[in-house]
Amino acid sequence: MLATTIHGPGDIRVEEVPDPTIKRPTDAIVKVVAGCVCGSDLWPYRGENPIQAGATIGHECIGVVEEVGADVTDFKSGDFVIVPFCHCDNTCAHCRAGVQSACVNLGMTSSGQGEFARVGQADGSLVATDGVPDPELLPSLLALTDVMPTGWHAAVSAGVTEGGSVVVVGDGAVGLCGVLAASVMGAETIIAMSRHEDRQQLASAFGATHVVAARGREGAAAVKEITGGVGADAVLECVGTDQSMSTAFAVARPGATVGFVGVPHGVELPVGKMFQKNVGLRGGIAPVRRYLPELLDLVLQGRIDPGRVFDVTMPLAEAPEAYRAMDERRAIKVLLQP
Ligand SMILES: [Zn+2]
Repeated sequence: MLATTIHGPGDIRVEEVPDPTIKRPTDAIVKVVAGCVCGSDLWPYRGENPIQAGATIGHECIGVVEEVGADVTDFKSGDFVIVPFCHCDNTCAHCRAGVQSACVNLGMTSSGQGEFARVGQADGSLVATDGVPDPELLPSLLALTDVMPTGWHAAVSAGVTEGGSVVVVGDGAVGLCGVLAASVMGAETIIAMSRHEDRQQLASAFGATHVVAARGREGAAAVKEITGGVGADAVLECVGTDQSMSTAFAVARPGATVGFVGVPHGVELPVGKMFQKNVGLRGGIAPVRRYLPELLDLVLQGRIDPGRVFDVTMPLAEAPEAYRAMDERRAIKVLLQP
């Protein structure tokens, strides 16, 4: 099959690789209808994560079941499915506690930017739609494989409440989905911290009531002013750098919780400040499968349209350009069509 591979920092190729096959009887193979590039794919692309030269890349996709293993009972070939980026059995103790991203049978989609992908624990992982969805819904369904549940998880972890105030640090696709999540959850004041006009506009469309372009101390001062000198009730940290984490704690009111979903890179926590102000930290890898049924309903009811984070669509063959466009911030998120 054709798939996107990474060979080194900045070196993305689309080339022939062996088709994924059923390795365990609980596996399924999905023919990818749409895949995409994730902000977290940019970490290895920028050389900030170790790279296995020639490995396939891409963990977000939706598609049609091609083949299932002998133990898969709930899905058959032809089913249209949403593939959570983290695979889980949805039955173990951690899954039952709502932490499907720490499943004892955890797996990951590894060729989402390719023609086929293997899904482990298919019965626990996959969620099917009722028939083949309207093509217009595909971007929003694709957003359910990672960015929307991740933004949602940030909001859940931060304890967003109806009528409360929320700050979202990070204006990538996850941060924008965090704004959308806070809006659905009924937050009254939603402050998006963003310096990019296209992202500011989408944040407003998703329900942000305020946009703060300033960073650091100046940004924190702007948030203080909007929140009447108090700080935010809930903060969503959707980047993963030391600077974004530091901003998140700077804008949190005493007693608030920071919900963090950005993959941490070089983050040092301000434990003294957390102690003094009783500010908590909660979050981590999103348990996508936990939220999928609820979020799928919201998409099908037309209440959320997270697919708007895809501002560019390209054929799979142009994956290298998709990475460049996202790296250079010319695109928020690129949808790839095999
Ligand atoms: Zn499990």
